[in-house]
Amino acid sequence: MLLDALQSRAVFRAALDGGFALLAVNADSPAAITDVLEAARAEDAPVMIEASLWQLTGHSFGAGDPLLGMARYLVQIALLAASERYGRVPVLFHTDHIRGPQTLPLLEASLRGLATGIPGAVMSPSTLSVDSSAFTETENIEALVRLGCVARDCGRPVTLEMEAGVDDGVTDLAVAERLLGGVEERTPGTIHLWAPGVGTRHGLGEQGGFSSEAVRSHQQTASRVLGRPVGIALHGSSGLEPEALKAAVSSGVVKVNWSSESLRIRSQAAQEYYLEQQAALTPGHPQWKTAAMDQGVQAHVASRYLPRVAERIRLLGASGQAGRCRSALGLE
Ligand SMILES: [Zn+2]
Repeated sequence: MLLDALQSRAVFRAALDGGFALLAVNADSPAAITDVLEAARAEDAPVMIEASLWQLTGHSFGAGDPLLGMARYLVQIALLAASERYGRVPVLFHTDHIRGPQTLPLLEASLRGLATGIPGAVMSPSTLSVDSSAFTETENIEALVRLGCVARDCGRPVTLEMEAGVDDGVTDLAVAERLLGGVEERTPGTIHLWAPGVGTRHGLGEQGGFSSEAVRSHQQTASRVLGRPVGIALHGSSGLEPEALKAAVSSGVVKVNWSSESLRIRSQAAQEYYLEQQAALTPGHPQWKTAAMDQGVQAHVASRYLPRVAERIRLLGASGQAGRCRSALGLE
């Protein structure tokens, strides 16, 4: 089931209360989306699938047009999430790193509802974030308030992740107070995830001194300032050791973004496939057609990728938590 903005809040709360985190996979192709759902189904876990601008404009989705890309992305997830196979997996679609001048027009359009080409079917993401770590505090607050106002004008709820300085050491708690308080004052009830800097770094390089203490103090500060329990979204998790990830979750992280390592596993598996299948991929070889078909490489990538996604889900304590989420949603 693909969750809406209000259902997403209930799942974040269930994660915070239950001491687990959702894996949020930055998926770059329809095959990756299928693989993530397959792993979540096998682990009986809720899961998030997220897209950055480069995926929305990429060949598999928008082919240059991010609005088309987001609609196509949403339709892909919605179709799979409504299927018998994945119907019991709570799935959230989140807009991840989107920056530049098209950010707000794109996110605002997605809040108003994206035309899908299917009569009557207009879709919006489950949750949104703005890539605002390079913004000034005022710009950051204004961007989120603007999204909150658009949602209010449309008469729809919006569930936002606010971020600040995610690659820049540990964010000062006073900054958290000003940013979260600044949005809450003008568009109350919209922020349900807080992504401060907690010493992690994006990419596969060395980590910058992750602090689970920072996670805990930010989770407490965000909840106090916003007046509701709010969990932490963790960026730059790819290079973190398993013990650090577990400490992050037990300190209040409810969403763990996963991009660089996921991409590395998938690209290495594809590379391995093409190298191993060089002879079969030569036209004239008896297995050429089978080896050359998209499912040839995708099946190989899935065989390498699925165990790693499942492992990550287990590490975050999310295995077996789909039922708790469905209960929180009043579905069972
Ligand atoms: Zn990130």
